[in-house]
Amino acid sequence: MITFNNVSKIYPNGVKGLSNINLTIQDGEFISIIGLSGAGKSTLLRSINRLERITEGDIIINDTSITNAKKKELRMLRRQIGWISQNFNLVKRSTVQKNVLSGRLGYYSTFKSTFGLFTKEDYSQTEEALRMVGLSDKLHARSDELSGGQQQRVSIARALVQRAPIILADEPVASLDPVTTQNVMQDLKKINLKMNKTVIVNLHSVPLAKEFSTRIIALKYGEIIFDGPPEELTPTR
Ligand code: ADP
Ligand code: ADP
Repeated sequence: MITFNNVSKIYPNGVKGLSNINLTIQDGEFISIIGLSGAGKSTLLRSINRLERITEGDIIINDTSITNAKKKELRMLRRQIGWISQNFNLVKRSTVQKNVLSGRLGYYSTFKSTFGLFTKEDYSQTEEALRMVGLSDKLHARSDELSGGQQQRVSIARALVQRAPIILADEPVASLDPVTTQNVMQDLKKINLKMNKTVIVNLHSVPLAKEFSTRIIALKYGEIIFDGPPEELTPTR
């Protein structure tokens, strides 16, 4: 469970990224965060793994406050959170296998620095995750030889091998064409349903949010203006 208690974020330049956010997110939800550019979607998502520090309130993940967590505690919390970004963040010249394997580093509590240290289990998890996103045949391909959609699915596989119960995706389909967008959203839905992961995804598209999520949170100027099931979301002006 993720809880936001009266969370605000004011950037050093005075801009309000988030304004008094109160939220409870249950395990296994598929949530879309929608809103115009600058509404605070990214700030909200990034504050969950403390890539962005909030300036007021508290964020609690499974009984542990992330707000003032010390380094070691923060690392434990971040192990529970997989991150998928708009630009995939793959090591381009590296193989798909190596990119996905690197996600295993987020699984261990001790730091493993080189690829040589991976175990049989790491390799089998990698293959299983690639099967999940339909890219088994690309194991040894170079990442920059894949299409954008395939690269995003590699980044989903990388998040999967981390075995984190929470997946945060910051505009994961922003740079993809409509068909590829559907595939990537379906993969996210699949890991939500089959692996019971909590998925929180930032989207620009309201139709996509309605199609895939069980709950939509709409932001405007850093405030929640809607929080509910897709069927209750009415067009606003
Ligand atoms: P969204 O993801 O919905 O586009 P953001 O969370 O990126 O919105 O931004 C929310 C607001 O905070 C915007 O007004 C944006 O300009 C501002 N903002 C975001 N990041 C920073 C930053 N590092 N410094 C100052 N203002 C920022
Ligand atoms: P630490 O410095 O505590 O070891 P990491 O840098 O390994 O933390 O990452 C911790 C968390 O942040 C993980 O959940 C990871 O997926 C996420 N993360 C890592 N790099 C980025 C990034 N560039 N953007 C967003 N999230 C990231």
